[in-house]
Amino acid sequence: MGLRTVDEYKKSLRDGRRVYIRGEKVEDITVHPILGVAVDTVAQGYALTGSKEAEIKNLFTAPHPQTGEPINRFFVTPNNPEDLAYRTRMIQRSIELTGGLPFGKEIGTDCLNAAFVVAGQMGKKQYQDNARNFLEHVRTHDLSMCGAVTCVKGDRSKEPSKQKHPDYYVHVVDKNKEGIVVKGAKIHITSAPAANEIIVVPTRQMREDEGDYAVSFAVPANTKGIVFICRAGRGAWSKHEFHPDSPARELTEAMIVFDNVFVPWDRVFMCGEWQYSMLLAYTFATFHRFTAISYKVPLVEAMAGCAVAMAEYNGLDRVGHIRDKIADIAGYVETLKALTNASAKDPVMYGDIAVPNPLIANMAKLHFAGKYHDFIRLIQDIAGGIIATAPDRQDWENPEIHDYLEHYLGGSAKYSTEDRLKMIHATMRFACSHESAFHEVTTVHAEGSMAAQKMMILAEAPLERYKQMARAAAGIAS
Ligand SMILES: Cc1cc2nc3c(=O)[nH]c(=O)nc-3n(C[C@H](O)[C@H](O)[C@H](O)COP(=O)(O)OP(=O)(O)OC[C@H]3O[C@@H](n4cnc5c(N)ncnc54)[C@H](O)[C@@H]3O)c2cc1C
Repeated sequence: MGLRTVDEYKKSLRDGRRVYIRGEKVEDITVHPILGVAVDTVAQGYALTGSKEAEIKNLFTAPHPQTGEPINRFFVTPNNPEDLAYRTRMIQRSIELTGGLPFGKEIGTDCLNAAFVVAGQMGKKQYQDNARNFLEHVRTHDLSMCGAVTCVKGDRSKEPSKQKHPDYYVHVVDKNKEGIVVKGAKIHITSAPAANEIIVVPTRQMREDEGDYAVSFAVPANTKGIVFICRAGRGAWSKHEFHPDSPARELTEAMIVFDNVFVPWDRVFMCGEWQYSMLLAYTFATFHRFTAISYKVPLVEAMAGCAVAMAEYNGLDRVGHIRDKIADIAGYVETLKALTNASAKDPVMYGDIAVPNPLIANMAKLHFAGKYHDFIRLIQDIAGGIIATAPDRQDWENPEIHDYLEHYLGGSAKYSTEDRLKMIHATMRFACSHESAFHEVTTVHAEGSMAAQKMMILAEAPLERYKQMARAAAGIAS
């Protein structure tokens, strides 16, 4: 088998997996009104690798390092800054080309790349072989994957072994010759019900008495005992919205319950090596924050564009305080872009695997998350109250009131009222909607909380050097 088509991918999801949304079991997620949108969004990744355009095909596929057969480029383990830059470019181009975030391999390969690094550091041949064989499996069958890291965690102040019950963190409950049995639940897992494979990584550092929680593995999504409980998303465009002619794009997240799930040994990447749980969680976080900042760039570019366009549609683009705000908006976006590129250019090498620069990746994610709400406020400020109160498309299409809207809702004479309304609706989606509230929370938490980024910045920043500089400036002998 080689690269799959969109239809082959969709067909593979009709495999008896247990998926629930809004309290109902879904037999075929590909045709569900909400989950179908998520499947279509992920499926765009397959449309890109199957593209007839050389520029697109060459970006999203690469020759298999040994056989030379075409594989999805996300399955190239990064060996240098160029490979990392490719990941950024793929993520950004996929958003530009498909209008969404076809997250079917990104987070899974963040987990798998981290598993490779840690298997190498552990020096355990079995885990190295398992990771390599699993990579070949997903390459050969062109599988979609999700990365399941975040455990439900119960009382956050308590360690896994000190909780009210043992299942707030995914852990091993049994082992035999054939494999391990795991129990617990992961939460907020992006694209989970639309994945072929789930890769599990510990959510945090485990201690000596928590070896059963230091577990990492991969399982097919239809494995017995796995249940997905999904977030209810937006579904297709509503008839109330002014929207582009292309379909609505959105992913879904799910809680994944592991109800005594059997995992064969050849799919296990860690089992009991608690000393390496921190390195695995940390390395995953670095890869994943790099993925995050890569996809945030086109998102904030489009949002910044709404502010620039709304200023023009309202005739205010030459006004001093508006230009001042647009300068802040541009500074926010370009700083994120520069840090994202810098993180790829200066990787940390583990053997021949290039891990994005952890200090810069965390600074970028913190910059994005820490200033996002200010960025939104600037867009809301420039756009005006109309993004909260705008009439909808059905008002526009009702002949009894259309002319009032046409007459009174114009802005700068350079633009039609209809285009202004379209831009108002786009800005509304980004800055004043259920979706925008979802993104505000996602910004703070997805890819780790800001406290997690600060922890990694403290671990990576050259604090000792700062101190030496200060001592030298103060004339204190070192
Ligand atoms: C849209 C979305 C998509 C996501 N996709 C994925 C995915 O694909 N895969 C995946 O694995 N995860 C995913 N996540 C999960 C994300 O990584 C977590 O939301 C994040 O790590 C925070 O964890 P939490 O939500 O459990 O919040 P909590 O852990 O409850 O954190 C809430 C606050 O408490 C603080 N806190 C928590 N514990 C402690 C402690 N012990 N001591 C001090 N402070 C503490 C945190 O810093 C934070 O400020 C996603 C999240 C979102 C919102």
